[in-house]
Amino acid sequence: MERFDIAIIGGGPAGFTAAVYACRAGYSAIVFEKASHGGQMGITSEIENYPGFARVDGFDLAMKMMNQAKGLGAVIKTEEVTSVDIGGREKFVTTTRNQYEAGAVIIAGGAKPRLLGVPGEEQYKGRGVSYCATCDGMFFRGKTVIVNGGGDTAFEDAVYLSNVCEKVYLVHRRNSFRASAASVKRAQAKENIEFVYSSVIEEITGDGMRVTGAKLKNVESGEITEIGCAGVFVAVGRVPDTEIYAGKLDLDGSGYIVADETCRTNIPGVFAAGDVRTKHLRQIVTACADGATAVKFAEEWLTEITE
Ligand code: NAP
Repeated sequence: MERFDIAIIGGGPAGFTAAVYACRAGYSAIVFEKASHGGQMGITSEIENYPGFARVDGFDLAMKMMNQAKGLGAVIKTEEVTSVDIGGREKFVTTTRNQYEAGAVIIAGGAKPRLLGVPGEEQYKGRGVSYCATCDGMFFRGKTVIVNGGGDTAFEDAVYLSNVCEKVYLVHRRNSFRASAASVKRAQAKENIEFVYSSVIEEITGDGMRVTGAKLKNVESGEITEIGCAGVFVAVGRVPDTEIYAGKLDLDGSGYIVADETCRTNIPGVFAAGDVRTKHLRQIVTACADGATAVKFAEEWLTEITE
């Protein structure tokens, strides 16, 4: 079984930063990614709040971070972690392909899209229902789509899709937005984005093969309307990807791994970094900061177990 000083679960900004710091400190490090590089950052079209880059494509930034980690010697594996055995002094990580041993584990698995849970969502997933505008937007060129949500992701998705699609409806359950003023302003300047306030999607409708529309309910009047569209982009937030740690690590009521600014969890030698941990601000910079911090405290643990 291959052994690394630090096993890092998740290849987003927290995971790659942890790998950079681990390798520069002289530790061997392996990063496990589920599917694509960069996590949520990797599917963000434009990032304007990462210092040093006035505007950068999320995938490009993800590749830069990954290549930096790789260049310093980190091993990057596209293998989904299916279980962990982290209670003892030595830690074990099992993936879809292998089992690995590690001195410390940094969990940086981020979060996955929150589902709407309405009829039609599951049936038309990948057939008009999408959770990633930059991945799937091109399939809706010249068509009408709905973006659901009122946060930064929904607004960025709407602006991105407005450049590809004929028309974008931005459906939000309230009449004020969680998204930053800058994101809202940019979307409001787009002539082909129409805002539908105080409304929720009741059902995603289709012809059995593909999405053809969505039934909306106005939460104030109760009125039901239907919008014809070829796609529904769900951008209603994210939930932590922590099922495999339930019963092993302390999680909060929403499933985030309980860890403070040191990134230490309730199990010695196991750290949580980035969006997956309990924290106030989930951004790329704060995820990077966690990656660095987690390595600092992992170093303490590794020193302790080797003395
Ligand atoms: P978010 O900020 O949590 O927003 C989720 C939105 O979905 C909210 O408007 C929420 O409505 C709505 N919502 C939640 N559950 C819903 C449901 N069941 N049905 C209908 N609507 C629902 O999530 P996010 O936009 O993915 O952003 C996550 C974090 O990443 C945020 O901190 C955000 O600032 C950050 N981010 C930053 C950037 C950037 O800076 N470039 C880009 C993307 C994301 P309510 O408002 O009514 O609760």
